[in-house]
Amino acid sequence: MQGLMMDMPLLISTILQHAARHHGDTEIVSRRLEGDIHRYTYAQCEARARRMADALTRLGVHAGDRVATLAWNGYRHMEIYYAVGGMGAVVHTINPRLHPDQIAWIANHAGDSYLAFDISFLPIVEAIADKCPNIRGWIAMIDPDRQPASDKLANLINYETLIEGGSADFRWPELDERSAVALCYTSGTTGNPKGALYAHRSTVLHAYGAALPDAMGASARDSILPVVPMFHVNAWGIPYTAPLVGAKLVFPGAQLDGKSIYELFESEGVTYSAGVPTVWLGLLQHVKQNGLKFSTLKRTVIGGSACPPAMIRSFNDDFGVDVIHAWGMTELSPLGTLSRLQNKHMSLPEAEQQKILEKQGHVIFGVDMKIVDDAGSEIAWDGKTYGNLLVRGPWVIREYFRGEGGDPLEYDSEGRGWFPTGDVATIDADGYMQITDRSKDVIKSGGEWISSIDLENLAIAHPAVANAAVIGVVHPKWDERPLLIVVKRPGAELTKEELLKFYEGKIAKWWMPDDVQFVDAIPLGATGKILKTKLREQFKDYTLPTA
Ligand code: AMP
Repeated sequence: MQGLMMDMPLLISTILQHAARHHGDTEIVSRRLEGDIHRYTYAQCEARARRMADALTRLGVHAGDRVATLAWNGYRHMEIYYAVGGMGAVVHTINPRLHPDQIAWIANHAGDSYLAFDISFLPIVEAIADKCPNIRGWIAMIDPDRQPASDKLANLINYETLIEGGSADFRWPELDERSAVALCYTSGTTGNPKGALYAHRSTVLHAYGAALPDAMGASARDSILPVVPMFHVNAWGIPYTAPLVGAKLVFPGAQLDGKSIYELFESEGVTYSAGVPTVWLGLLQHVKQNGLKFSTLKRTVIGGSACPPAMIRSFNDDFGVDVIHAWGMTELSPLGTLSRLQNKHMSLPEAEQQKILEKQGHVIFGVDMKIVDDAGSEIAWDGKTYGNLLVRGPWVIREYFRGEGGDPLEYDSEGRGWFPTGDVATIDADGYMQITDRSKDVIKSGGEWISSIDLENLAIAHPAVANAAVIGVVHPKWDERPLLIVVKRPGAELTKEELLKFYEGKIAKWWMPDDVQFVDAIPLGATGKILKTKLREQFKDYTLPTA
């Protein structure tokens, strides 16, 4: 027997329509490349997105076509998300921090038909134009009077002029909810990047899941500023979750330094933010150096790489801001787990609560997870034994775009497919997951594993350390031993001996790094994560003193 409920497909256009109808005057505020602060409402955003969808239809963009963006977080980028996705085409957000050759490769692999860009990326666009013959036009996201000229771009279109030509009568089509809406390529630490192709259904379900109280806990009372870029897994879904709950949105544009972000936090009453640990390092430094406080910020999601416990404590103790440590992946849209306490934890001493909050967290409904040994057998949830982390759920990919890499899933005895994350983790009896390492980054010493994340977290807790990374270096006896690479805080004095002393009593003796190297900077990848591949390359001729 079938249920007798309305059959309404889960489409992203319905999210923005909902915001326009029911939170119509709620603001979207953006810092623009034009130099000013732009503000308008969800109602205006939805109207402009429809006009843009009509304009793109007139340009010959069809359902399923890919339209790329190279853009910061801003209202025009938001309009493109909804215009392109809502009309049935696919928005392909490209990370502008990649090398132009990689950008051209990705745009060609995706088969992009148009590319919309913030004019700060004009040099990139000019560098890739003749390598991307399928791109029929380049849309500059800027006021017409600031439109750049370029003799390298065959069809340079102005965003505002384009939208002017779109009809306000455009209506969102009723699409199949399983049709594609957005495409993101993984950071591709090995081999070529691979595309995760999200569906309307998976995106709407993810937006619901992300809004839950034990996930982001977003509401219409929030003013949300995503520092995480809209080209990094759709800013972790915030451009979908915020209108779904009717929250005010604040977009920081190109200015991601601590001072500019702090200014927006204060001027726009931001209650909620999200970003990778490296951006918060800069913000905390600015706020501490200038003796500032956050007057409205209540919580922030930190993820993308392990959030050092020292950062969680500093936000909490110094500023009264709750950190929600989260784990996810491009292949998971991206949310997988978040660390929030449960009823049974409320009576625990603070130090024990803190330990729970430092983990990558608990799944939300929509994601299931397990850890397995190398033979694929499930491992106990004892919080100690680690194994390969596998996940499944309606917002987890089942294969990569264009079938790249074949079938990525591992199948259990009941034939259900699980996505192997490439992460090594423990899960405790309460279901809280903790990442030990990326399987490629784990250090194998004498047949046992050492967690580089644990060693990095400890180093960062030292007051003289600005940033730290640990890599495994070949060792004749132990296979690999940990090398600690450190950036000191400006003006700080610190010796190798002092730093290693700091580790004493905090780790098993055999985890002690064999050496410390001080450097001026640690290479970061396009999404702000430490580039271990590059570090290993930098230290390939290095020999440990113990070797
Ligand atoms: P990406 O798809 O580029 O966002 O990278 C996903 C990977 O980032 C995961 O597989 C993890 O290795 C890493 N990652 C994400 N969040 C965390 C976290 N909170 N702690 C440790 N690693 C993380």
